[in-house]
Amino acid sequence: MSESTNDPASVTFDSVRKVYLDDFVAVNGFDAEIEDGEFITVVGPSGSGKSTLLRMIAGLEEISDGDIRIGDDSIKGVEPQDRGIAMVFQNYALYPHMTVRKNMSYGLKLTTDLPDDEIERRVSETAEMMGIEDQLDDKPANLSGGQQQRVATGRAIVRDPKIFLMDEPLSNLDAKLKVHMRTELQRLQEELGTTTIYVTHDQHEALTMSDRIIVLDGGELQQFAPPDTVYNEPANRFVADFIGSPAMNFFDVELGGTTLVGDGFEYDVPPAIIDTILGNEAKSGLELGIRPEDITYDAAGDNTISAVVDVLEVAGSDNFVYLDIEGTECRVRVPGDVKPTVGDRTEIGFDPDDMHLFDVRTGENLLAESKGKRAARKADTEGAEEAA
Ligand code: ADP
Repeated sequence: MSESTNDPASVTFDSVRKVYLDDFVAVNGFDAEIEDGEFITVVGPSGSGKSTLLRMIAGLEEISDGDIRIGDDSIKGVEPQDRGIAMVFQNYALYPHMTVRKNMSYGLKLTTDLPDDEIERRVSETAEMMGIEDQLDDKPANLSGGQQQRVATGRAIVRDPKIFLMDEPLSNLDAKLKVHMRTELQRLQEELGTTTIYVTHDQHEALTMSDRIIVLDGGELQQFAPPDTVYNEPANRFVADFIGSPAMNFFDVELGGTTLVGDGFEYDVPPAIIDTILGNEAKSGLELGIRPEDITYDAAGDNTISAVVDVLEVAGSDNFVYLDIEGTECRVRVPGDVKPTVGDRTEIGFDPDDMHLFDVRTGENLLAESKGKRAARKADTEGAEEAA
C-alpha cells in the first residue's frame, strides 16, 4: 500500500446526545475516547443506538447535543466528505450499473483532485490486496456476496481515510464466509493501522475482532473495555447477560452470615467477598452470576449445590447440560464425553473467584473490580508455581 496521506486519528465523544423526532432519545450522554489506530466494536441489541453513533460521525445524522472530535477537531460544521472517513454498509451500497473499477474509483474522482493515473494505481493496488483484481471489469450483480463485501471494503480503503466506519458489514454473508471475512478484516486493519469503528449486534464478533468493545443499551454506554475485561469483569448485569453464549446463569440470593442463600441452595463465600458485599450495603436484593464454563459438574466437597438434569444438548467437542435447581435453570458446559441422563441428580460447584454478584437495584457488578484483582493474583500464584 502507498504511504498514507492521512494519519490515523483518535475519535472523542463528549456527552453526545441524539434526539429523533423532538423527543426520542436514541443516544444519551455518550462519552468515549478512541485512540489512534484502535479497532473498536460497538455492540448492543437492536435499537440500542449503534448505527446512530456511527451515522453521526459520518455526517449522516446531526448531533443534537455534545460534540465528536476527530483528532483535536470538532466534526461540527465539517462536510462529510472532508472528515477523512470511509464507511462500509451492511448492504454494501454498490452502484449496480458501474463496474467494480468504477465503484472503487468514483468516490475519489468526486471528492479529490487526484490525477486519473494515481486513482487507477490505488484501485489496482487495493483490488490486489482484496483479491478482486480479476473482477475489476465485472458489475456487482455478477459477484458473490463475499466478493461484493470485498469491493465495498476496497472502495473504503482506496480513499485512504483516517477512520473506517463499518455498519454490520458481514451480516449478509453465510456463517463460514463470515468467519473468513472476519479474520480478513482484522488482518487488513492491522496492516493499514487505520482507526476502525465497527458496529455489530453479534457479541461473538465483538469478542473476537476488537481491541476494545463499546457495549450500548438503550442509547447509554454500559462498558468500554478490552474483550477479556468485558467478558471476565462485566460492569453490570446487562453486559454480563449480553456477552457470552450460552449466557451467564443468574440466581436471586441474599446474604446470611457468610453464606449466599438462594432458592433451594446455600453457598459459602470467603471473607473478602463478604467485605465487598457489606461495603456496598446490598445484603439483600443480590443476584449471583456464574458462567456455564465456570461450573464443575459432579463436584465433590462441602460447598456444592444440588441439581437435577433437565436437558442434555450435545454440541460436539463440548456438551451443555441444562439443570434444574428448585425451579431455576442452570446451564453447565461439560466435556463432550460427559453425557448425563435426564432426571439424574448431581452436585455442582464453582470457584468463588469465578462468581459475579449484582446489586439488583442498580445492576452493578459488585465484584467486577475485586474480581480483576483476584484473577491477577491467581495468575501470579499459578505463574510462580509453574516457575518453581
Ligand atoms: P441500532 O443500530 O443499535 O439498531 P439505531 O441507532 O439504528 O439502533 O436506532 C436507535 C433508536 O433510534 C431506535 O429505537 C430507532 O428506532 C430510532 N431511530 C433510528 N433512526 C431514526 C430516525 N431517523 N427517526 C426516528 N427514530 C430513529
